[in-house]
Amino acid sequence: MDLHPLQVRHRRVAEALASRSLDALAVSNLANIRYLTGFNGTAGLLLVTPARLYLIVDFRYSAAVLGLIREQMAPPALVHVPLEASTGYDRRFAEFVAERRRGAAPGSSASDDGPPLRRVGFEASHVPVARWRLWQTRLSDAGAGDVELVETDRVVEAARARKDAREVGLLREGARLLSGVARDVLEEVVRSGRTELEIAAEIDWRLKRAGFEKPAFDTIVASGPNSALPHARPTPRRVGEGDLVVLDFGGVHDGYCVDLTRTVAVGTVPAECRRIYEAVLEAQRAAIAAAGRDRVETGEVDEAARDTLRRHGLDRVFGHGTGHGLGLDIHEAPRLGQRSEESPGKDLLEPGMVFTIEPGAYVEGLGGVRIEDDLLRTEAGCDVLTDVPREWRAIPA
Ligand code: ZN
Ligand code: ZN
Repeated sequence: MDLHPLQVRHRRVAEALASRSLDALAVSNLANIRYLTGFNGTAGLLLVTPARLYLIVDFRYSAAVLGLIREQMAPPALVHVPLEASTGYDRRFAEFVAERRRGAAPGSSASDDGPPLRRVGFEASHVPVARWRLWQTRLSDAGAGDVELVETDRVVEAARARKDAREVGLLREGARLLSGVARDVLEEVVRSGRTELEIAAEIDWRLKRAGFEKPAFDTIVASGPNSALPHARPTPRRVGEGDLVVLDFGGVHDGYCVDLTRTVAVGTVPAECRRIYEAVLEAQRAAIAAAGRDRVETGEVDEAARDTLRRHGLDRVFGHGTGHGLGLDIHEAPRLGQRSEESPGKDLLEPGMVFTIEPGAYVEGLGGVRIEDDLLRTEAGCDVLTDVPREWRAIPA
């Protein structure tokens, strides 16, 4: 029998629990909850055991969760845990853990639910210290002070890095839609005399018109000197003669984020701008080629871009990583950054990973260039999912 796609995800987390000798994992990150259950609300707390997914939601979301279960959109192991308005998530969580500490959850038999809880993992990078302390207090109050809360690091995120067939389909479609928007933006929206804010607003409108739920992040339109700031915010500055304009935008398609950058010139720009553009484009091509190589490490993809820019004397003005994973979050694993002691960049790119390649160069007083596309790692190599011309483009001033 085929497993429900969400059962496969649950199983991966269950294996991670077993390898850490954990009885359960408390998942508080909403993207991780969505990944495991299909639930797409703005509040919720999930307790994952090897056998069950206990989803605590308040009354606003009870109907949604019951609907997911009824329509079999949720994994078969999902159990709805209602929350009274007066209780609050943290107390309900502690009480539920305490019940499971003693044995069965209410309304189910102990054998279905696995052994009583002793060691419960939590997502250390998503739980503030204050909440962690509160959980300990609440557990003591509920008579389960001996339950051990154990720090875990990116258990669900690690599973999310390799996309399944449905996710790949959504990201492919998102990249196709984004490419259409981008081609129109380059043809029709970027015009001399318009302000960065006007251009950004029209990009956002076009993303929605194309069917995206929302922009994946605050759209970047950075012209002239602003283009030398990698994460500039749009300003009232008017785009005009001699500018480089960096346009970086993305959309959310059925929960999944896609992301693209193009840089255009306005009128006649200094020859140095064109030289930088061609170097960044060469760096992007080198990184895309590297990303398709057999058994390639994330750090090697970054090196391919960085070495190219170094040959052009531009590595010192490339102050960010070469790319990032895409999925339910706009920035997720894998990270394709510069190797360092903290991030050695030794992770292999694996089939199913979807990520950006986006080298850039930013020269104060002159301008900046970034070129970004979205890729899927396959068994054989890499597919570039976005499809927008990358050659040098100058629009009339
Ligand atoms: Zn981007
Ligand atoms: Zn990006």
